[in-house]
Amino acid sequence: MAKPTGAVCNLACTYCFFLDKELLYPGSPFRMTGEALEAYIRQLIEGHETPQVTVAWQGGEPTLMGLDFFRTAIELQERYRRPGMTFENTMQTNGTLLDDEWCEFLAENDYLVGLSLDGPRQLHDAYRVNKDGRGTFDRVMRGVRLLQKHGVEYNILTTVNRINADYPLEVYRFLRDEVGTEWIQLIPIVERLDSDGLALRQEGTEVSERSVQPEQFGRFMTTIFDEWVGNDVGRVYVQTFEAAVRNWLGMASSGMCVFNENCGAALALEHNGDVYSCDHYVEPKYRLGNIADTQMVELLGSDQQRQFGRDKSDTLPGQCRRCEVRFACHGECPKSRFAVTADGEQGLHYLCAGWYEFFTHIDHPAKTIAALLEAGQPASDVMAVMGSEVPDLETMASRAPRNSPCPCGSGLKVKHCHGRSRTTPTEPTTFPVFVAEPRPRVTRTRINNPET
Ligand code: SF4
Ligand code: SF4
Repeated sequence: MAKPTGAVCNLACTYCFFLDKELLYPGSPFRMTGEALEAYIRQLIEGHETPQVTVAWQGGEPTLMGLDFFRTAIELQERYRRPGMTFENTMQTNGTLLDDEWCEFLAENDYLVGLSLDGPRQLHDAYRVNKDGRGTFDRVMRGVRLLQKHGVEYNILTTVNRINADYPLEVYRFLRDEVGTEWIQLIPIVERLDSDGLALRQEGTEVSERSVQPEQFGRFMTTIFDEWVGNDVGRVYVQTFEAAVRNWLGMASSGMCVFNENCGAALALEHNGDVYSCDHYVEPKYRLGNIADTQMVELLGSDQQRQFGRDKSDTLPGQCRRCEVRFACHGECPKSRFAVTADGEQGLHYLCAGWYEFFTHIDHPAKTIAALLEAGQPASDVMAVMGSEVPDLETMASRAPRNSPCPCGSGLKVKHCHGRSRTTPTEPTTFPVFVAEPRPRVTRTRINNPET
């Protein structure tokens, strides 16, 4: 994963942990040079034994490099390609700088674009703001429509934060029905604060008020899963659900590093050629070297990186080792393992309660999908299977009119009982006005002298 502008971005999303990372390279122009670009593409190609090469651009905001940089990257791919080699270029962007010229380029070169959008306007604008603190919803939606107009393949990356996590169906249905996307990534925001209140290093056991809470996250994911498994299997692809099914099928990789047994294959390349163990560990301690001095493939195979990869499973606490959904969760990402287990052991994932709820909740439908696929039937048949089963109380409540008596027999209306957390498309949500506190910015002095 290459970061040609380092952590530099034209926006200032309040929860973005990259913002402070600019200060790790004081005085840097944060632009990948032509030499570093050529070394990266050449070494990436040389390091591949397989014919398909993925070139992943990330940020910060990669489009700040301008189109010519990416045109050069495509020329270099052509220059160094071996016979039979194909390239998949991917880019994660906030979408605000896209225009027709960009989208023509992306379409011509078969880019897969990941675009960040956190839900309907009020939810998106809660944290995704520009440097003046103004919401970016309109500019991002303009970017989505341009991608659609030019037929660029794209997916939507939605962060799950303290605010939008209370509105799972509003978020999901907005993406599906109003944006019209068929590919969704849901990434939890866990912003860990060190003793200085900075989200710069993987230290501290406190999280920011922007971070999603474990139980809240579990509710968010299970609610969306139920909507998906009831209506959209085979039509809408939610990355986490796909990864879960792959783990239920026992496949070698889930397709998401956080749900694999070990780490190690997701190097992060900074703008100056420095290589780090992972995009979430761009810190001096995890710097493996620089591609000007050492081939990237050597850095990937280095003892330091192999150990980094193994640490994911080696450091699992007992609670994870004994957990019945470990095969699906694998203790998630080590960067957020700063909670304490029920028996007092350090190193549990902060979102454990949410992941546990999610993975146990989806066990039956995930097993059903796996069985269908193994029998050569389409995964979408799960919708008919689930629909024919006697529903549980929650499901019955979710299907009943909100003002009817709750099927549990409590005498309360559905909306005050088992249907409490539910919203329906006929009842549009009125969102409160969310005004996030501006993120406290840190100074170079504090970064260079952390003890201050
Ligand atoms: S540290 Fe987290 S993000 Fe990085 S490779 Fe491991 S699981 Fe993936
Ligand atoms: S659900 Fe919790 S205990 Fe189970 S593997 Fe995941 S983090 Fe560990």
